[in-house]
Amino acid sequence: MGNEVKITFLGTGTSQGIPVIGSNHPVCLSKNPKDKRLRVSVMVSWDDYNYVIDCGPDFRQQMLTHKVTKMDGILFTHEHADHTSGIDDIRPFFFRQGDIPIYAHKQVVASLKHRFDYIFANKNRYPGAPAVQVNLVDNNHPFKLGNMEVIPVEAYHNRLQVFGYRIQDFAYLTDIKTISDQEIEKIKGVKVLTVNALRVEPHHSHFNLEEALHFIEKVKPEKAYLTHISHMLGFHDEVEKKLPNNVHLAYDNLIINI
Ligand SMILES: [Zn+2]
Ligand SMILES: [Zn+2]
Repeated sequence: MGNEVKITFLGTGTSQGIPVIGSNHPVCLSKNPKDKRLRVSVMVSWDDYNYVIDCGPDFRQQMLTHKVTKMDGILFTHEHADHTSGIDDIRPFFFRQGDIPIYAHKQVVASLKHRFDYIFANKNRYPGAPAVQVNLVDNNHPFKLGNMEVIPVEAYHNRLQVFGYRIQDFAYLTDIKTISDQEIEKIKGVKVLTVNALRVEPHHSHFNLEEALHFIEKVKPEKAYLTHISHMLGFHDEVEKKLPNNVHLAYDNLIINI
């Protein structure tokens, strides 16, 4: 028996979010709150801990919506802007708590250092700039967050390496297009799997709906939630009706306990 883990879907949209700026697409004009999707992120909480997986441009709004007062760390899947560009907004947490731990592959850290040099600067730091404590993530090296073990799962986003994470009976993978059978073994039979499903049409670096469903069949979780969704996938309520019984579309602000 482990701890009860609470998963909060902070954002479930693809890189542009839904609605897309300036779009007249019917899904972008939908009045259903489940058709509004911020950039993708989840918060994983247990006991007193809150961790987020990715920190995109909607991070500030997501923290305000969920009245988050403490952030124990950020796990990054990969370096794309829709997963990283909110990092400056860790400042309120940094002012209260000090350096914020981040967990990322060295390639992601290198990209963050290049794009947010002031966060990592050793000399002449701008007063008010946030600081992070870097923890490198590598495949086949599980690590601990508090008392919880985290297993990194390697996958590919076209040719870019991405990491998903297994935390107890929860597995989260986004922006994947291919994954080896060996990596799938790490997450087989989890209670809850979250995976990206961009749209119906194929895409060069993301699972489409069919590929995501095929992947779910291999992993055989009790339940699966789809995320990183484009407006092209269709209306939430209509897509939901067509999915297998144990598969759902995630939506912003959905909370599940595992
Ligand atoms: Zn993305
Ligand atoms: Zn990406």
